[in-house]
Amino acid sequence: MAKVYYEDSVQGDQLKDKKIAIIGYGSQGHAHSQNLRDTGHDVIIGIREGKSADAAREAGFDVFPVSEAVKQADVVMILAPDEIQGELYKNEIAPYLEAGNALAFGHGFNIHFDVIQPPADVDVFLVAPKGPGHLVRRTFEEGFAVPSLFAVEQDATGNARDIALAYTKGIGATRVGVLETTFKEETETDLFGEQAVLCGGTTALVQAGFETLVEAGYQPEIAYFEVLHELKLIVDLMYEGGMEKMRDSISNTAEYGDYVSGPRVVTAETKARMKDVLTDIQDGTFAKGFIEDNENGFEKFYGLRKEQQGHQIEAVGKELREMMPFVNNK
Ligand code: NDP
Ligand code: MG
Ligand code: MG
Repeated sequence: MAKVYYEDSVQGDQLKDKKIAIIGYGSQGHAHSQNLRDTGHDVIIGIREGKSADAAREAGFDVFPVSEAVKQADVVMILAPDEIQGELYKNEIAPYLEAGNALAFGHGFNIHFDVIQPPADVDVFLVAPKGPGHLVRRTFEEGFAVPSLFAVEQDATGNARDIALAYTKGIGATRVGVLETTFKEETETDLFGEQAVLCGGTTALVQAGFETLVEAGYQPEIAYFEVLHELKLIVDLMYEGGMEKMRDSISNTAEYGDYVSGPRVVTAETKARMKDVLTDIQDGTFAKGFIEDNENGFEKFYGLRKEQQGHQIEAVGKELREMMPFVNNK
């Protein structure tokens, strides 16, 4: 079993007396900075002017242009969108990094795919919470955390690993468990998980199920409840106790149907397609497409987003959720 790091595994505080600049104040940025401040660390925010900068000031942080924050900081954590990090690094970060600084990431994409090539005299590590930013903050306030990964790509000071571990402790992650990985493993498994299962796989499965019922003449509202709304309840049970707890909680009819019909939907062919998706991630095809589309003003990305927003399940869901105030739709 992989080694899991908890509070007691991290002795001392390698971030003490260091200034941490969080670059970006979005989903992950606001959570890292607030958690680190609450665990007693010196945090400043580096960001362009706009909504996020205002939010950071409102939360009481000192806010600077990215270059100024990098100049002041010992540890620079880049939590801007992956697709802009290359340009941001080149123009506003690299010129202001000093030997012995640490450059950190929330996801390994730009280091693993060679978009960013840091100088040899800085530490390079990642700390990747395995959950959305708002949960990184909310769970911290509730006294626990989101489990996180860390990895060291470059150890210039001899302390990179201890600094990375101190960072995981600073955001609260050692309260629940931290695992060590590599930039390659974190990047490839993160992309695969979100594409094949969590985001891409799930939305495609839900839409196909919805379309199958509606095309067969069933009411769209009922189809929505059966294939989307109830999904959360099922996933919650799997989260708490695995497939077994979920299957224990559903009816025998549902459990029998699970075994006989699940493999008819997700087949050996589906798994072969998953392997194709993984290959595209591993050989850089996916990253290249994403980067090129970004250079092209995200024409493909925004087109697909628009097309998906127009799906019938979205309109039906919006109406139904308005009648369900207990569904938190902020
Ligand atoms: P968001 O899109 O939520 O936030 C990005 C932040 O960067 C915003 O505050 C934005 O400010 C700022 N920003 C955008 N452009 C610039 C710029 N040119 N200069 C300075 N600041 C800028 O990003 P995420 O938190 O989703 O992602 C950040 C990183 O964390 C990524 O590497 C991602 O892969 C990783 N990650 C994300 C997770 C998540 O749950 N979202 C989970 C784990 C890792 P503005 O308001 O001005 O646009
Ligand atoms: Mg991701
Ligand atoms: Mg049912």
